[in-house]
Amino acid sequence: ISAAELAKATFENMSKTDAKVDAFLGLNEDAALKTAAAIDAKGINADNLLAGIPVGVKDNIVTKDLTTTAASKMLENFVPVYNATVVDKMNQNDLVIVGKTNMDEFAMGGSTENSAFKVTKNPWDVSRVPGGSSGGSAAAVASGQVPVAFGSDTGGSIRQPASFNGIVGMKPTYGRVSRWGLIAFGSSLDQIGPMTRTVKDNAAALNLIAGNDVNDGTSSKREVPDFTAGLTGDIKGMKIALPKEYMDDGIDPKVREIITAAVKQFEDLGATVEEVSLPHSKLGVSAYYIIASSEASSNLQRFDGIRYGFRAQDVKNLEDVYVRSRSEGFGDEVKRRIMLGTFALSAGYYDAYFRKAGQVRTLIINDFNKVFEDYDLIIGPTAPTPAFKIGDEISDPVTMYMNDVLTIPVNLAGLPGMSIPAGFADGMPVGLQLIGKSFDESTIYKAGYAFE
Ligand code: GLN
Repeated sequence: ISAAELAKATFENMSKTDAKVDAFLGLNEDAALKTAAAIDAKGINADNLLAGIPVGVKDNIVTKDLTTTAASKMLENFVPVYNATVVDKMNQNDLVIVGKTNMDEFAMGGSTENSAFKVTKNPWDVSRVPGGSSGGSAAAVASGQVPVAFGSDTGGSIRQPASFNGIVGMKPTYGRVSRWGLIAFGSSLDQIGPMTRTVKDNAAALNLIAGNDVNDGTSSKREVPDFTAGLTGDIKGMKIALPKEYMDDGIDPKVREIITAAVKQFEDLGATVEEVSLPHSKLGVSAYYIIASSEASSNLQRFDGIRYGFRAQDVKNLEDVYVRSRSEGFGDEVKRRIMLGTFALSAGYYDAYFRKAGQVRTLIINDFNKVFEDYDLIIGPTAPTPAFKIGDEISDPVTMYMNDVLTIPVNLAGLPGMSIPAGFADGMPVGLQLIGKSFDESTIYKAGYAFE
């Protein structure tokens, strides 16, 4: 099959499937068909497993000449004039971008219900959420529309939707992938990563987007290994840790059962699995909501009604432009974060909140470092429950925030983490989270490949 035939078939399938799932915000049909034809014309590169493959891109990753909204009214008609570095790399590596995927507004949320435009459904049960914030990317892959989609993960937004949709989702080490052109949420936490059906596809996709970028000072100069190289199925002697805090009462018993079975499977594969403690991981959610919201309140200052996107009508003066554009352009969750962040950073409160949160972050990092002195990998559930019903948690922000209790510590420590399908509870997929040492995505992929 040629890239052009594949692209054409992809759009035909999308027109039927996405009518039910609503994973995509915008399609890129004309440009994608042209790109695919050009790939065929120059010849498929046989060394690139993903050459000519159609992919979805989360709508907070900027795409030149293709509307990029971050699922916000603020950016409803925003057409970027440049590509994110990862998008340039997708183009250079012959991926065919077929469309932009739905998400929680500015990546704030865990269900994709915070999108200003549409509610994405979980393809396994359309009355349930796909998770979030990269819920569109996850649903696009799980519903068979694209084999690869890209998401972003600040506190769990790749891994939790991967878990809810029964797919593979990797949040790489902070600095592994350039953030240039990712609409910033929490700059010290954000990473872009691949969401796929298989571990091998995921490893190949990360190879295509990883690496140093002069445009992102936080991107690492470390060499990027071939992540597909270690996929042998052999994990004999691997030392795996299971944190007891990840298996406590807060976790759905059906999820715990699946993780216990996964532990057994790793042991059968010749790995050792032992219980450890990450005593400060419980504090992660509180620290995260201070740090992420503070960074967001700063990053979102640029949406002032003048430089980008939405501007309120019939304004009286400059102050009115700012206030009304932001009041009308942002949704409730985004406003909640901006207010929380602005408060946490304000004079007199900084020491009590932002500084404290930073100290907690250090304790969490130390917990992980200690475990990694003796172990190669940490495993546990990705999320406390399977996908919940649309409408069930959206009115209660704190319940929604708790979805990421198991993923947030990984972002705070900048570590790589991946969710892979581990089983089903009441017909819905449940993910297993694999957490690696800094810049050791290879061990995660190796273990994930042996497990799947
Ligand atoms: N659900 C978390 C939040 O709302 C994480 C989001 C993300 O990783 N982008 O902040």
